[in-house]
Amino acid sequence: MPVVNRIADYAPQMTQWRQHLHQIPELALDCHETAGFVADRLREFGVDEIHEGIATTGIVAIITGQGDGPTIGLRADMDALPMSEETGLDYASERPGKMHACGHDGHTTMLLGAAKYLAETRNFTGRVALIFQPAEETIGGARIMVEEGIMDRFDIGQVYAMHNVPGVEPGTFFTAPGPVMAAVDTFHVHIKGVGGHGATPHETKDPVMAACGIAQAIQTIVSRNHYALDDLVVSVTQIHAGTVDNVIPETAYLNGTVRTFDPAVQQMVMERMKTIVAGQAASYGVEAELDYEVGYPATVNNADKAAFAVEVAKGVSGDDRVVGDAGRVMGAEDFAYMLQARPGAYVCIGQGDSAGLHSPEYNFNDEIAPVGASFFARLVETAQPIARVAK
Ligand SMILES: [Zn+2]
Ligand SMILES: [Zn+2]
Repeated sequence: MPVVNRIADYAPQMTQWRQHLHQIPELALDCHETAGFVADRLREFGVDEIHEGIATTGIVAIITGQGDGPTIGLRADMDALPMSEETGLDYASERPGKMHACGHDGHTTMLLGAAKYLAETRNFTGRVALIFQPAEETIGGARIMVEEGIMDRFDIGQVYAMHNVPGVEPGTFFTAPGPVMAAVDTFHVHIKGVGGHGATPHETKDPVMAACGIAQAIQTIVSRNHYALDDLVVSVTQIHAGTVDNVIPETAYLNGTVRTFDPAVQQMVMERMKTIVAGQAASYGVEAELDYEVGYPATVNNADKAAFAVEVAKGVSGDDRVVGDAGRVMGAEDFAYMLQARPGAYVCIGQGDSAGLHSPEYNFNDEIAPVGASFFARLVETAQPIARVAK
């Protein structure tokens, strides 16, 4: 059961869709043109229901199979990134400062390919809910779609999603049971000191020194407060202060990211950070305000659904081209919210040698689109098979 022949035949069309989407990147919830293109294709395929405007520009489309049964959800993300493309492709972004550098144009295309096949063949029972979401890169379009009730409204029983991965052999798959991607939080520290002349620091309360002290002390959360065998990243990624060499500024600002898998570890980081910021500020005689934003939760695969996805992927790509215990990474993914709402699995598909995700030179590899679309289609046909009458 390799790539579905019928889907392989769609390859030229899928490439056209993908390259068109690549030219018209949109950001966050503002995926109007992309969603319009998706809805037009879904209408052409003859899906049974198209529900638009969920989470502003998200779509849920329903295809009904043969006979009663449960509903399986398949999700693709549609949004791009606020960066300038440097691929030099003839179908590069037409929009300066916006680029499909994470391959969501490819994810959308793969789900469209599966939709076309499933609408034409309907070789399954129950229903499939095709979920096209905006704002994966920013505010969590998946969370908004879940909050707007898609799981109950469409009676979705299980959900799956896929992401391309550069540097991994094209058309291979990998995933794992349990946590696969981290929870991501952001912190901001605003420091207010007393500025003055650079030559008379004793008359100031230097916020630059306080920022350096806080940045250093924050690193002890990982090195001295945390059990070494658990996964945790705390990174200070920005420090801004000052304007010129002979002025000690009034204020400084720090910003960074926290990656965790365990809510208890996340809680510990939050509490330690409060204590450290307050203590360091007191020692430098400045005021410091910590703003800790809790972001996407950890992406946690249901063990049974991950095992099921592995079997389906093996059917598409071959046993030796699928890894079912690939471990976890410190990246984050808003599909986490859908996996909190329903059991399912997040699966990675290799896309071969290319620039990395979020690089200005990245491009989705169109060759893997039929493989990914076949995986989506076979998930549905295998999870909700048409009963064969024994003869
Ligand atoms: Zn991304
Ligand atoms: Zn992405």
